[in-house]
Parts: sequence; structure tokens; C-alpha cells
Amino acid sequence: MNKLLEVTDLKKIFGGSVRAVDGVSFSLAERETLALVGESGCGKSTVSRLILRLTNPTQGTIRFEGKDITRISQGALKSIRREIQFVFQDPFSSLDPRMTAGEIVTEPLSVHGLVRNGRERRSTAERLLQAVGLSSKHVDNWPRQFSGGQRQRLGIIRAFALGPRLIVADEPVSALDVSVRSQVINILQDMQEDKGTAYLFISHDMATVRHMADRVAVMYLGKIVELAPKTSFFAGPQHPYAEALLSAVPASHPSKRRRRILLAGDPPSPISIPSGCRFHTRCPIAQDVCKSSEPPLKPVADNHLAACHFAQAWPIASRLKDVDAP
Ligand code: SF4
Ligand code: MG
Repeated sequence: MNKLLEVTDLKKIFGGSVRAVDGVSFSLAERETLALVGESGCGKSTVSRLILRLTNPTQGTIRFEGKDITRISQGALKSIRREIQFVFQDPFSSLDPRMTAGEIVTEPLSVHGLVRNGRERRSTAERLLQAVGLSSKHVDNWPRQFSGGQRQRLGIIRAFALGPRLIVADEPVSALDVSVRSQVINILQDMQEDKGTAYLFISHDMATVRHMADRVAVMYLGKIVELAPKTSFFAGPQHPYAEALLSAVPASHPSKRRRRILLAGDPPSPISIPSGCRFHTRCPIAQDVCKSSEPPLKPVADNHLAACHFAQAWPIASRLKDVDAP
């Protein structure tokens, strides 16, 4: 598979001491969906903002289609915008309330001079609305006249308007009612199928990730601690933190129920990252070595990487009998 995006040792340090993103590397192939998961504050949204070039990294490189886009001019950024688009979490605040649905979905085309006149813009808008299952009759409606799910459809089709090769979707369904989430997820999947777009899919919801992702990257305190194909990840995560995240997901069938692992406390602050393994203050199987030696992200199975001194090729849950919470 060709690499569409390649991120190497990316760091973002705010105010000289807040290590929001602390050395992240991954790649994304064409048509692939990589889910970036973790608790809020783990740095996943900062990674998405770095890739969208909304903020500059402190260190590291971002290559897109082989080109280094880590530090580029505003002019070059405009052409990158045609290739890398975004869908944000909150369809209520991300759509301009003073623009009609038609104006919203065609705005990227207008910005890039790709619609010649009002009539063309209108017919394009109608076609785009229909592509996400909205009636073309709504082309003159205001965002407030749409439901949350409909607004997110507008956000999605606007992101697709320029035919991007990559869409960064930051929690695109978490602000929506559970009842409409699967519709919006299906639209994202259908659009991907149709257009061949790759997704960097930021989420804290494992059920959605299981549905959407080809590969999963788990972040903890600014670092990727596990990176694996979806099937291998859900069959047996190798990092205790990933195991804990998964254990919190309700099982689809009692036989698939995981031993619940409750983590002590909240994640530490990115201002004072623990020594050694940054997860050691909450890890149920931490040993002395974990306090002093930082585990590298290394292969533990086929295409499956984990950053744990004790990652093994068998389920971690089976080693947790004695530390398991009731
Ligand atoms: Fe836990 Fe140690 Fe593995 Fe870190 S390296 S996840 S503290 S067992
Ligand atoms: Mg976030």
C-alpha cells in the first residue's frame, strides 16, 4: 500500500512545558482508516490539528504524498487544503449560522474558484445535499433548521466537496444522539467507498472505532502506546492501557465479555509526565523497571506494535487475576 501520510517523531510542546504530543510516528495508506483513540487530553486532537496544519509542531515531520508539509507557506497551505479536509466534532458550532446549507457545502469550491456562477453553485449544492441523503429542497435553509445529524451530514459533504485524499475527522459523531450516530457513520463509510478517501479518525468511543477502523492507534499522555490492525487489536490488545479501554466497552455477547480493568485515578498532567513508562502510575501490572525505563513502541505480533516491557503474545487479561477490580 502506498503511504499517503507519514508522520515522524511529531512533538507539540505548549508554553515550553506542556508536552501535548510527545514523539508520535505513524503512517496512513490510501483508502485506509486509522483510528486514533485515547482519553480526552491524550493529545489526539492536537495531532489532528498538527496534520491539518492549524498549528505548527515543535519538532518532527509530516509528509503528505511524499512531500514535506511540516513547514509550508500560506500559499502552499491552500493547495494542501484541497487534499486534506476535516470534519469536526460539533456540527452546531462548526457551521456558520449566517450561511445557507447551499452556501456552506459549496464554500470550499468557491474559495478555490471552482464554481463559475450562482446557478452552477446552486446546482452543485443540490447535488451535494442529495449525496448525503438530504433533500435538495433544503438548499436555502439555515443550519438552525437542521437536526444535529443533518448538520453533520452538511459538515461531511462540505469536507468532500473538493475531492480530498485525506479527511481528518475529530470525534465526528460524539456530539450526536446515539440514534443517529450509525447513520452518520454509514455515510462516512459510503463516501469513503465511493471516493477512495483515507480517514484519520479521532475517537474515544471503541464501538465506533471497531466499526470504522482498519488500524487502531492508542494514545496515552502524548504518545502512541499501541498500534495495530483492527482485528488483531480487538482480539488481543497488548498494552495494559489499551486492555483497560477495551474492557470498559459493553460486550456484544456474554461469551465475549472482558474482565473489567478499572484504572486508578486520572491521567497525570502533560506538564509532569511520569518517568520511565508514562503509564506506570496507573498500570495494574507495573514492575520496578517500569519506573525507570521507558518502553519503546516495538513489534509484538504481525504489524502489531506495543510500548510495554511486558507486552506478550497472549491476552494481558489472563495475567491480571490478582489485580483485577471487583
Ligand atoms: Fe505497565 Fe510497565 Fe508495561 Fe508500562 S511498561 S504498561 S508500567 S507493565
Ligand atoms: Mg479532543
